[in-house]
Amino acid sequence: MSNWTKSDWRTLPRIQMPDYTDAAALNAVEAQLSKYPPLVFAGEARRLKTHLADASRGDAFLLQGGDCAEAFDQFSADGIRDTFKVMLQMAMVLTFGAKVPVIKLGRMAGQFAKPRSAPTETVNGVELPSYRGDIINDLAFTPESRIPDPTRMLQAYTQAAGTLNLLRAFSTGGFADMHRVHSWTLGFAEGGEAEKYLEIANRIQDTIDFMAAAGIDGDTTHEFSSVEFYTSHESLLLEYEEALTRIDSTTGKWLAGSGHMIWIGDRTRQPDGAHVHFASGVQNPIGLKCGPTMTTDDLKALMAKLNPENEAGRLTLIARFGAGSVSEHLPRLINTVREEGANVTWVCDPMHGNTIKSSSGYKTRPFDSVLREVREFFGVHAAEGTIPGGVHFEMTGQDVTECTGGVRAVTDEDLSDRYHTACDPRLNASQSLELAFLVAEELSN
Ligand code: PEP
Ligand code: MN
Repeated sequence: MSNWTKSDWRTLPRIQMPDYTDAAALNAVEAQLSKYPPLVFAGEARRLKTHLADASRGDAFLLQGGDCAEAFDQFSADGIRDTFKVMLQMAMVLTFGAKVPVIKLGRMAGQFAKPRSAPTETVNGVELPSYRGDIINDLAFTPESRIPDPTRMLQAYTQAAGTLNLLRAFSTGGFADMHRVHSWTLGFAEGGEAEKYLEIANRIQDTIDFMAAAGIDGDTTHEFSSVEFYTSHESLLLEYEEALTRIDSTTGKWLAGSGHMIWIGDRTRQPDGAHVHFASGVQNPIGLKCGPTMTTDDLKALMAKLNPENEAGRLTLIARFGAGSVSEHLPRLINTVREEGANVTWVCDPMHGNTIKSSSGYKTRPFDSVLREVREFFGVHAAEGTIPGGVHFEMTGQDVTECTGGVRAVTDEDLSDRYHTACDPRLNASQSLELAFLVAEELSN
């Protein structure tokens, strides 16, 4: 949009954003962030867009994953490394299944702000404002912790910059070598019930060995030893987003410099609201969460606003309906896309429609529901003759106990052992990799 500016959103209705009480402190933070370097560069975002355009046609497949909410107190090199590592393993298994390149996109280096279902929460009769993510307030259940503090944006920026720096180093510094990545996967498949994945793992190994024998390996071939890795997060805290938005000197267009892709959450996708308007003016690829309440009229208005030029790769529709509900909602939205002749990339988020409360009181997601929603998503696309372009998971490389099920089964009783998420439950490393094997099977069918 030619007359769009990065502060227009301020005059529009906004929800799920904090009311900062100290305007001077907020202004000072915004002024400071506006002088900091952007975290990503326009050429990278455009490159991701071309990959997503490929995914919309079935010539690539998107793997988007990471924490529900990145947290200041869990920031560590090991945490970043482990999530990066399991995503590479998953990507390799998915590449083998899909026979197309897999786009690796972290929910990382900026995934700090959270929309909440209620403005307050009550514990033992005490009511406090909800936790809204570390970039806004603090999880500790005290009145002071829950006051929105603008200086937290500076800490989030620092953490995002440190995370991205390490991801960039891992991507090209030898860590991502295919032999290494696959040897980790073999380790997973060599024990207990996971043996059922050994056959695929061995076939991947044979392929790698064959290529090495033919002279294609990390020493000769760049693609064998390095990867492209992109970042994404929900564009929720618009003061932060605006401060990192810059004009790209190559094209003269605006770029959200906070991450390669930004997405709009299911709660903040009002066609005339602040969040949609903000996203409409930046050139980044945009994700749009589509939950059960999205109507065909909503989708039409959103596609017109977010992708008026109908550019392939610009708009990724992230379906999150819940297992058992995909066939009720997805066909009508696919139909709308078809009627409008719109270019979109369809991705399945099988996490956010499948959250339940366990008998032990924890918010969890059963592995089987996650898998079932992915299968339903593939099934509907097969029936409609459209393209399933990727998957979106809340996951971590750590050995947490937050989602139940999987071959190294986590039970309701286990949840309390290592339940570390600041927000929604994540698949652990073993569950994530197992899911990749199962999705790879779907893709190769
Ligand atoms: C999320 O991705 O963490 C999230 C809040 O998703 P949704 O907007 O789909 O509920
Ligand atoms: Mn979440």
